[in-house]
Amino acid sequence: MKFNSTRNTSVEVSASVAIAEGIAKDGGLYVPKEFPRLPKDFVETLSPLDYEMRAAKIVGAYLTDYGEEELLSACKSAYARFDGEPAPLVKTDEGVYLLELWHGPTCAFKDVALCLLPHLMTAAKKKQGITEDIRILTATSGDTGKAALEGFRDVSGTSVTVFYPSDGVSDVQKLQMTTQEGNNVCVCGVRGNFDDCQSAVKKAFSSEKVISSLRKKKVRLSSANSINFGRLVPQIVYYISAYVDLVASGELKEGDKINFCVPTGNFGNILAGFYAKQMGLPIAKLICASNSNKVLTDFFQSGEYSLQRDFLKTISPSMDILISSNLERLTFELSGRDGALTQRRMQELKSSGKYRVTAQEKAAYDAHFHADFATEEETYREISEFFEAYGYVLDPHTAVAASVYRKYRERSKDRVKTVIVSTASPYKFADSVYEAISGEKCGDAFDAIAKLYEESAIEIPESLSALKQKTVRFRQVIGTDEIENFVLGEF
Ligand SMILES: *Cc1c(COP(=O)(O)O)cnc(C)c1O
Repeated sequence: MKFNSTRNTSVEVSASVAIAEGIAKDGGLYVPKEFPRLPKDFVETLSPLDYEMRAAKIVGAYLTDYGEEELLSACKSAYARFDGEPAPLVKTDEGVYLLELWHGPTCAFKDVALCLLPHLMTAAKKKQGITEDIRILTATSGDTGKAALEGFRDVSGTSVTVFYPSDGVSDVQKLQMTTQEGNNVCVCGVRGNFDDCQSAVKKAFSSEKVISSLRKKKVRLSSANSINFGRLVPQIVYYISAYVDLVASGELKEGDKINFCVPTGNFGNILAGFYAKQMGLPIAKLICASNSNKVLTDFFQSGEYSLQRDFLKTISPSMDILISSNLERLTFELSGRDGALTQRRMQELKSSGKYRVTAQEKAAYDAHFHADFATEEETYREISEFFEAYGYVLDPHTAVAASVYRKYRERSKDRVKTVIVSTASPYKFADSVYEAISGEKCGDAFDAIAKLYEESAIEIPESLSALKQKTVRFRQVIGTDEIENFVLGEF
């Protein structure tokens, strides 16, 4: 399997090059040249296998320059870090399921990909004969940073530097990062919002000064953001695995269609669902759920992507994003894989802050997607009503999706069985969740965790209760204009 750049389809590289480079030289994102088809009997084939083996098979269909054994051993090490099953389903109502993806070391779905990525990347390095160390430079809206730190900590030949918006993450998220252990990690707060932080990090990536200084030290940069195909491919697995599990448990008949409703920010998670559909998984609708930063809702409804709006801070901070990087991969596919057109649109987005797709393309978006958003008030209400109805505690991101699905179900009368993708443990956002359930504010993050436990009796993830005893190692907060010097100063 070869990979093209979304901005130029004559660029063709192997999977290991796509993963080692992260982003194409023309600024485009690597996409598979074609989608591997699921075999007709994929349910029978995958059903008896555990998650690790399913993952190795599905990932292997894309990463054809990796060996079967190599992938299986990578998947085994990655998912051994999870507490139990990596992607269990919980049925809440007739035909409605939650796919819990947060049983990994940092309690958010990013672990599913970021526990595997270091294995894929070190193998890619070997395959490509790369002898330099790889430095992961990542901007985070909260969850990617911690998951990258955990994934890459003490992995030899790599190091990781994370920048987060200092007032744009939850208290627990911040503590998780600033107390990170490991000898190859570094964390720094940035004044500004996530988009500011991401733009400044992207600039450092392409800075000649940074690149040449690193070259001398035999270090090359790579990214752990979902622009890297190695971040996306592990996410395709759980869509297929969930379908197989639902057939195995008798909830679905083989061939039945299914919807997935996904709380969306950078468009990586839901794009993996779209890729699963391209492989032949019988998905009816992909429901794209946004918080009040509803740039994607507006795009799907109008056909115009426009950044001309305010950036809002919400209780679902990992979705506080206006520039959804992975949308480029979708617009590329639905434009008939037109690299030149994609290039022009991304240029337009950069220069004028917007672009529009054609009516014909818009029809293709409508066939695959439904998009809507939940306000802050709706998100609070969803957490509280869901708890009352099912005794189940949603985190604010998953609550955005549950609220959007509820509205969709009422309006559309669509009764296709639906999986709501659950992306974080409620304890990661305990203050907002406790407030939603009880109407009371808490003193601090630990107070909120304790009170949420009293209220719900849901087990507190070990890694979060352990935070209280950890020492803060990283206190620095800088301006966006200091990021480049910070990166240079580290070497
Ligand atoms: C990252 C994240 C999202 C958004 O996922 P994207 O792939 O960026 O669309 C949703 N919920 C949580 C908890 C996250 O950490």
